[in-house]
Amino acid sequence: MGRYIGPVCRLCRREGRKLFLKGEKCLSPKCPFERRPYPPGQHGRMAARLRRGRESDYARQLRAKQQAKRIYGVSERQFRRYFDVAQQARGLTGQVLLQLLETRLDNVVYRLGFARSRREARQLVTHGHFTVNGRRTDIPSYQVRPGDVIAVREGSRNRTFFREIIPAWAEGQKVPDWLERDLDNLSGRVLRLPERGDIDTQVDEQLIVEFYSR
Ligand code: SF4
Repeated sequence: MGRYIGPVCRLCRREGRKLFLKGEKCLSPKCPFERRPYPPGQHGRMAARLRRGRESDYARQLRAKQQAKRIYGVSERQFRRYFDVAQQARGLTGQVLLQLLETRLDNVVYRLGFARSRREARQLVTHGHFTVNGRRTDIPSYQVRPGDVIAVREGSRNRTFFREIIPAWAEGQKVPDWLERDLDNLSGRVLRLPERGDIDTQVDEQLIVEFYSR
């Protein structure tokens, strides 16, 4: 199964928490989760009531995995592949998994404030608006490394989106310590690999490890 392309706000309602998948809308009163904080579907409200406080270990592990997958916008197969790589790498599997997800190009574009959501970042990357070390790179899953320079492509800089919308949005976005941003030049640099303390994604990676270790 490929990447999920259905209505994303349903995913927040399914997970029972805000996953912040839509940029500005997530921070506004228009957020559907604020109005209907129960699972989608005819029996969503009832299911939430029955489920309350009775979640099994498996359910908690599954939810943690689904949430991470949905936050970073990757498919099940891709997510499993990241887990396999993390398991074979040195270090704590859960933390390496998060590090691999954080260093995807689309996530870095989002973290630098050059897109308002990871979904938007993915689309901008796919449409060829970014370069890595001066070379046009349109693969959202591209893994960045320390020293890499990510920039808005020369030909895209004059677009209203990058001239007006993004600078205004990026101003309010804090860049994590492992990245450096040059807003005037619409570029950023990877200073080092992120550690767990640098990653503010609220998922319990240990539950994900438990899920795949069953
Ligand atoms: Fe989730 Fe954002 Fe949609 Fe709210 S607006 S339900 S936080 S994706």
